[in-house]
Formats: sequence, C-alpha cells, structure tokens
Amino acid sequence: MAGRQYPWVLADVPWSDARQFTRGRFEGLPLLSWGIAPREKLATYRQLRALGLRPGGADPVAVLYFHSRPGMRMVFANLYLIATAKPVRPMTDAKWAAVAAARVARCTCPTCPPDQRVKPYCLPTSIGRCWECHHADELATTDAAGRPVAA
Ligand SMILES: [Zn+2]
Repeated sequence: MAGRQYPWVLADVPWSDARQFTRGRFEGLPLLSWGIAPREKLATYRQLRALGLRPGGADPVAVLYFHSRPGMRMVFANLYLIATAKPVRPMTDAKWAAVAAARVARCTCPTCPPDQRVKPYCLPTSIGRCWECHHADELATTDAAGRPVAA
C-alpha cells in the first residue's frame, strides 16, 4: 500500500481568510472530502439551483469527492461560492417559444413528405429520421432474413 490517496493538507482557500484543512488538490482546485466543505459558503451546481442561484460564469473554487456506494465509484463534484452566485434568470415568453421550437425541430423528419414531417415523438439522433422512413429503407435493402442485399 502506498499510503493514503488524499492526505490532509493545510492550505489557503478562497472561502476563508484562515488556512483550512483540505485533501490536497484536484485539477488545480482544493479537494474536499465528505463532510468538511462549509455548507453555508460552498454549494454544488444543483444545490445553488435549489437556492434559486446560478454560478453566473464563476469558476468552481473547490472539488468535493466522495464514494458512491450504488455507483461503486468515486464522485467528484465542483463547488461554487454561494457569495458570488447570481439569481437564476426567470423564463420569458421568448425563452419558452425557443424551447417549443427546439422540440418541434427534434420531432421533424427530413425525409418524410412535407405534410407529415412533424412526428408525435422525438426522432432518434442515431438514425436522423423517423422510424417509418428508417424501416422502409431497411426493407428495401435487406432480404427476408434481415441480411443486407447487394445493390
Ligand atoms: Zn420520415
């Protein structure tokens, strides 16, 4: 065994004037283990969102790591300063319209006749068109057993 993977390190941190115990550095940021990040000063993106806040272009100031038992792996989460976070921008009519237009685009088949292009489901990006077009093409290029037919 080569000792602890993340030994304790006393380091300067952006959220405190005093040096704080960390678990070293990860990708240039202070690394914190489960339970040592100050909840009133640091938050993950989702925790900020739950407070009605967003990072507002600010970079993360620390990384939290913990072991996920169901995932059987280490999880690393960016932590942001709550003090510099900005309020979430409210949805406007124009933003909702853009979301609706994007949804129509995801449901529009490029190879269908113009009057039946918009499908009631989102098209798979792997085939780039609707299932009807995909299966019609597949029937034309495979034999009864599903093997490709030489053109
Ligand atoms: Zn189609």
